[in-house]
Amino acid sequence: MAIRPIVKWGEAVLHAPSRPVANIDGQIAALVQDMLDTMYAAPGIGLAAPQIGVALRVIVVDLSVGEDKQQLLHLINPEFVEKEGEQRHEEGCLSIPGYAGTPLRPARIAVKGLDLQGRERLYSGTELLARAFCHEIDHIEGLLFVDRLSPLKRDLMQRKLRKRARAGDWDE
Ligand SMILES: [Zn+2]
Repeated sequence: MAIRPIVKWGEAVLHAPSRPVANIDGQIAALVQDMLDTMYAAPGIGLAAPQIGVALRVIVVDLSVGEDKQQLLHLINPEFVEKEGEQRHEEGCLSIPGYAGTPLRPARIAVKGLDLQGRERLYSGTELLARAFCHEIDHIEGLLFVDRLSPLKRDLMQRKLRKRARAGDWDE
């Protein structure tokens, strides 16, 4: 159990697709535990493995931020089985502290993947849960919310982020 440093915008691991998990073993269980510890400490409602520097397709989501065990979801090798409609709400990201944007997201999604026991899990969601799954699955594809803004807003924010990343200064 460990809180790991959160990788920030500009680090290569956040901007390339992560690899599928081949074997769900004790290392993956430890990874999921570290991701939960790191997400709760932040605090945040979701985290993807590349955000702690591990280029594997693993995500965790907990809209209750640890208040309700029922809401804690983890998925290994998640993929969409359905996307429907559109919504647009403000999103932030633990890897881009101090910034927010409003990317276009599907209104309703269904995702499947494996749990730590290797069983297939299927989740569907709307509103915040749909946005959280999309945001985290984007992470394992190497995409951040910034990449989904309109070209004008994206370029503007990327310029600011490049400056921040160069200075290595992510304190708010
Ligand atoms: Zn994020």
